[in-house]
Amino acid sequence: MGIVETEDRYSGVFDVVKCPVCGSDKWTHLVYQGVFCRNCNTKCTLREPAGDQGFITEFDGTYTWSVDDGEKIPETEEYAPVASGKWLGTENIGYHRHWFSARADHVHDDCEWEPAWNREPKNENEDEHSYPTTER
Ligand SMILES: [Zn+2]
Repeated sequence: MGIVETEDRYSGVFDVVKCPVCGSDKWTHLVYQGVFCRNCNTKCTLREPAGDQGFITEFDGTYTWSVDDGEKIPETEEYAPVASGKWLGTENIGYHRHWFSARADHVHDDCEWEPAWNREPKNENEDEHSYPTTER
């Protein structure tokens, strides 16, 4: 099972999937090693869901680099820094995200990690208040 086979079977997937750590949608395919976020080096592995059309992603943060916009996947005593999600659909009709969570969510009720697409944009909100216009 090389990565080449994965690419063929799931064509278009990496146009849809964003990195949950930093929000990047740029991926690097390293033959025999896997697919890594070009920005923060989080590893992404694809699996086939049982009985559904779509795909399952597993993100491994073991080798994630520290980047400005990144929040690393939480690690617990039980689990490595892993998060996974399921997308349903096909390349022709499009994919949509069905669920997504960090493994640590299952053991820590107070796990505050959110994937990049659920986080509040930090800078954009501040800008709204930065330049008040006064009319005279
Ligand atoms: Zn990333």
